[in-house]
Amino acid sequence: PPPRIVVLGSLNMDIVLRVPHAPDAGETLQGRSITNVPGGKGGNQAVGCARQGARVQLVGCVGDDAHGRALRDALAGDGIDTAAVRVVPDAPTGTALVMVDDAAQNRIVVIAGANAQLEIDEAALATQLAGAAFLVTQFETPLAQVGRALQVAQRSACKVMLNPSPMQPVDDAWWPLIDTLVVNEVEARMLAGLPADTPTEAAAAGQALRARGVARVVVTLGAQGAVAVDATGARHHGAPVVKAVDTTAAGDTFLGALAVALGSGNGFDAAVGLGIRAAALCVTQPGAQPSIPQRDAVLRHTSPTDWTVL
Ligand code: ATP
Repeated sequence: PPPRIVVLGSLNMDIVLRVPHAPDAGETLQGRSITNVPGGKGGNQAVGCARQGARVQLVGCVGDDAHGRALRDALAGDGIDTAAVRVVPDAPTGTALVMVDDAAQNRIVVIAGANAQLEIDEAALATQLAGAAFLVTQFETPLAQVGRALQVAQRSACKVMLNPSPMQPVDDAWWPLIDTLVVNEVEARMLAGLPADTPTEAAAAGQALRARGVARVVVTLGAQGAVAVDATGARHHGAPVVKAVDTTAAGDTFLGALAVALGSGNGFDAAVGLGIRAAALCVTQPGAQPSIPQRDAVLRHTSPTDWTVL
């Protein structure tokens, strides 16, 4: 049977403005277009898992507004169980204002809104986590609640996949509660206090993080692929060469495919390889959730990639 994954995290409506260039202070500019695109790291990772075939339960918050309803409908359309997505009465749905200029540079402002009101119901979460392959979570919801969720996962014997993004310091008590830590090069550098720009550097940073008590670490390196670190050592997985048009949700797509592959019983390197293949397709499409590929497309349009021992 497909693995069951519980995702706890943020839900945002991305309001994407296409502009010729970013306006200066005092400047008024004619934009090219405005689009509402479902996003937020929690929602994206839930979609990433669902489109790889997992059964997904999402824990999060939206406002009592049109964006909140649209997000829930979009997630339900992916077969995601949104029963634990709470509608809060007194905050707007999380919003990301994304300005994309003609050079494809992004400028983003996030309003947490309802995401800041997420509060764990420990008993309900424990029920969801019993028998689940992973609790997947990130740092776009209040850190105190993420910490509580990690404790509930440990008591429920459910593995945790943590993506500490946007970067904030990780409480030392949390490291041993994490099965798989997924970081990009910036997060790896800030958490480990070591450079992580090259595969060799990323391996050393990943080893330093693993030494704190995490079972497995993945450092994602954009077009350079990813480095996988576990008890047996470090491997560099290359990424397919693709025409990247928008990397939004690449990390979330990677993480979803990784979680589902591990939850389906694949080995660590096979799972990282599937993550890389899914993320490579994601970057060829614009937007957050619309760019996350289905499992069939990943298998059809990408080939297994090479990896080398570091
Ligand atoms: P984002 O915040 O844009 O979602 P991130 O910073 O969390 O991304 P990255 O390391 O940039 O994470 O990308 C995640 C994964 O996506 C990489 O490990 C790689 O597999 C894939 N990827 C990203 N950019 C490219 C690219 N230009 N070509 C191929 N694969 C890519």
